[in-house]
Amino acid sequence: MKVGRRSKGIAFGVLCISLCLRIVQGYKESETMRTLKLEQGDSHEVHCSRERSQAAWKIIEEYLMPFVEKERYQISRRCRLHPDNDLYRDQEQHKIHVDLNEWQCGYCRKRFYTEKYLDRHFDNRHYDLLNMSHSRCLADVCGALHCDLVMDSMPRKTKCNPAAAARNHHLCESLADGCFPVNQGPSASHLHEFFLRQFCDAHTCTGGQKPFSRGHRKTRSIFYLSISVLTLVLLPLFYIFIYMHQRGIKGGTVELKRISKGVRKKKAS
Ligand SMILES: [Zn+2]
Repeated sequence: MKVGRRSKGIAFGVLCISLCLRIVQGYKESETMRTLKLEQGDSHEVHCSRERSQAAWKIIEEYLMPFVEKERYQISRRCRLHPDNDLYRDQEQHKIHVDLNEWQCGYCRKRFYTEKYLDRHFDNRHYDLLNMSHSRCLADVCGALHCDLVMDSMPRKTKCNPAAAARNHHLCESLADGCFPVNQGPSASHLHEFFLRQFCDAHTCTGGQKPFSRGHRKTRSIFYLSISVLTLVLLPLFYIFIYMHQRGIKGGTVELKRISKGVRKKKAS
């Protein structure tokens, strides 16, 4: 009888412990569910840097697209550099630069002093319009594309890290393979070769090779050239105008002096 009572006691104890464990487990599960729900609720918190995506796009536009356009090659959607794989592309296309200190939201027409404020507005008000379908972040290819070189805020590393250089070189080569498969005709083959020289060769610690060695968009240099020619023409004209104006004022004061002297003489007589 004693043994039976003891075993009943033990069984009761085990039951109690298991119940307690289940309650704790259940509490833990509900905690996890809550955090999951919270994360889902905070879906506009995007883990993709807008700034670095912008830098990557700038590099693609400046140092890649002119050559792709020249070859009349169509980048496929499978390529990570395709506009559809940029989360922020639609928002970026809805930026209207009205004036030097005036930016407008293309969705709701609200105006801002700087691009940064407009970016913040996009983050707060139009996060639902982000292209989440492909869940691709253009900033992820920044290492391969040398984004740090076009970003002003980033402090440049002076010491080269061989492991990071090797990683970026590998990523760079995979971009070349994915975007310009050599078996897809001569254009793709040319661009594959170009991509390696333009972006991938510089991912080394031995130095010597510089990124973007194959050049950049020419229209911009033409724009700068025309601006400088215009300045060179307008500057002498401006000085001539100033000179004439000064002469005109001096002539005027001389005239005035003469008149005032004449008036004084008349008054004296
Ligand atoms: Zn808006």
